Amino acid sequence: MTPESWNARDYPILLGYAGLLGAVIGSFLNVCILRWGAEPKQSIVRPASHCPKCGRGLRWFDNVPIVSWLVLRGRCRGCGEPISVQYPLVELATALLWAALAWRYGFSLEALRAAVFGTLLLGIALTDARAYIIPDEFSLGGLGLGVVFALLAGRQPLGTALLGAAVGFALLWLVAALGEWMFKQEAMGGGDIKMMAMVGAFLGWQGTLLTVFLGAFIGSLIFVPLSLVGRKKLVPFGVFLAIGAAATYLAGPAILRWYGDYLGRA
Ligand SMILES: [Zn+2]
Repeated sequence: MTPESWNARDYPILLGYAGLLGAVIGSFLNVCILRWGAEPKQSIVRPASHCPKCGRGLRWFDNVPIVSWLVLRGRCRGCGEPISVQYPLVELATALLWAALAWRYGFSLEALRAAVFGTLLLGIALTDARAYIIPDEFSLGGLGLGVVFALLAGRQPLGTALLGAAVGFALLWLVAALGEWMFKQEAMGGGDIKMMAMVGAFLGWQGTLLTVFLGAFIGSLIFVPLSLVGRKKLVPFGVFLAIGAAATYLAGPAILRWYGDYLGRA
């Protein structure tokens, strides 16, 4: 039986499994986002899941993705304090992501690769937005995963991944060095540099360039108006790079084709 015959449309039950797996991974992702983004960084293994307000430990039935939050109506069983809606939303988003990619690519290596990449981007975006931190576990760990997927796919993709990682690292390092020289202060953190090495391993060097372009474009659309009205803040650039990377994965060739046509007409 060829992998193509495992078309998710013919096996809706498998689509459900992909969504369930995504929900469980999303539940784990919540823990990673909170504990790797904490200062100082906390272990994701110990202590076991507990209410951050009253410390009450969670039983297995309090820990069922999405369902438990709905059953508890968003409140801790012990102290009745609200539980952040981020938990079920991240679980739901990850479940939909994994199911959608299984639908799109069937049960293939590419579906798994894309789901892992999307999960890493979601983790990075949320940790950077909450804590202005891009944990090495997501960036360097993700870089390792990107290289492993390239190895599994064959010889050519390995070169693509390594070149992409090198270009991502070098490009962001250069931008950071230039920014520091121009503004005499750190313009971009090391987290962004390591993140783009990871993105490069998944998207190759062309995808890396497009990601940085889209990230800077979206970021300036949002932050230039904010700084004009005086609400200048630290910029979680990783959020915009993550959006740029997701857009590049989904529509990179189409965006480049459109841009080529646009230049041709001008
Ligand atoms: Zn509590």
